Amino acid sequence: MDERFTGSFTQQEPIPDDGIAAAVEVMRHGRLHRYNLAGDEKGEAALLEQDFAAFTGAKYCLAVTSGGYAMACALRAVGVAPGDKVLSNAFTLAPVPGAIANVGAVPVFVEVTEGLVLDLDDLRAKIAESGARYLLLSHMRGHICDMDALMAICDGAGVTVIEDCAHTMGAAWDGVPSGRHGKAACYSTQTYKHMNSGEGGFLITDDADVMARAVMLSGSYMLFGRHLAAPGPEAFADARYETPNMSGRMDNLRAAILRSQLPRLAEQCARWNERYFEIENGLRDTPGLTVIERPDRETPVGSSIQFLLRDWSADDVLAVVSRCAERGVELKWFGAAEPVAFTSRYDSWRYAKPQHLPATDRVLAGLMDMRIPLTFSREDCALIASIIRQEVTRQFQSVSAAV
Ligand SMILES: *Cc1c(COP(=O)(O)O)cnc(C)c1O
Repeated sequence: MDERFTGSFTQQEPIPDDGIAAAVEVMRHGRLHRYNLAGDEKGEAALLEQDFAAFTGAKYCLAVTSGGYAMACALRAVGVAPGDKVLSNAFTLAPVPGAIANVGAVPVFVEVTEGLVLDLDDLRAKIAESGARYLLLSHMRGHICDMDALMAICDGAGVTVIEDCAHTMGAAWDGVPSGRHGKAACYSTQTYKHMNSGEGGFLITDDADVMARAVMLSGSYMLFGRHLAAPGPEAFADARYETPNMSGRMDNLRAAILRSQLPRLAEQCARWNERYFEIENGLRDTPGLTVIERPDRETPVGSSIQFLLRDWSADDVLAVVSRCAERGVELKWFGAAEPVAFTSRYDSWRYAKPQHLPATDRVLAGLMDMRIPLTFSREDCALIASIIRQEVTRQFQSVSAAV
């Protein structure tokens, strides 16, 4: 009898008790709107921004309604105008090109490597070819490219970098927290990311003008003085008149839930990595399967895992997906012709101009993806790895035998 896994790939841990208590407190006093403050009360949203700025080391932080909102807000705040070209990874999630479309800009996709990071040679070529002056860099599924090399290229070409850190909250490159290389960085606190408020996001930057515009965009009215992680009133002298209000504020209820999670984030990241490397070890040296090697300079957060079935046929990939599913292991395939659930390919974002990215196509054709919720034990992870290993081996050997 083949062993089966019975856990849920979509079940996250509960909100910590002190977070529940803080949320109940906000509901009891009823001041859920971030600017609805009594006396000298600071408010959970403003305090959360202060906490998250300190966590990343950024000067300024703004909490907003989602990661996607944070990205569109950051693009607008750094000056992206309708019709501008914005470079981005060809392998990413739909909200990334969506944020570019949100500001009326035009996505220009850059190839990714087999390490699932931006291809820096293609980045150089695409900068030259397109004349784009902005890069929305997605650390997709937590894979971080050589940030020193990337910043050298972008600084040299006058390209402004916005980082999408939806999967790298708590991660680092060469000891520098992810999100601290570019002009601004965006995070998500949606349920499947590293902190969970259902929906939510952050934007961080050291640039006072960018943050002043972002705060106005998020819908601060003339109440920006109530922020604790924003620049002083002088930075708002022009922004208060020139920046449209595009409401996307964080409320005190979600902020209360998040404030309880932030002090635990580093420990949670360590727990993710225990599980990640348990699975990675179990998959290593499986015939036909390529593990994604993590660079020495990267401090990852393994909240999901990817591997390649390099140059496999679609039928063989689908056979593995369906047999793993029968045994309770949910693999996502980024190479599917039709977008499914959260996964889609760049060619399914048809509002963008059709582009041909052969290296990325080859990677996506064999790219498997799996979430690692913290509700899984290490024993669960070992079992999951052994199921994948058996099914990949079985399929690979049956194909090799037939040739
Ligand atoms: C989830 C996600 C986002 C956006 O986050 P939302 O809060 O859902 O808008 C952005 N980029 C990547 C890579 C993501 O996975």
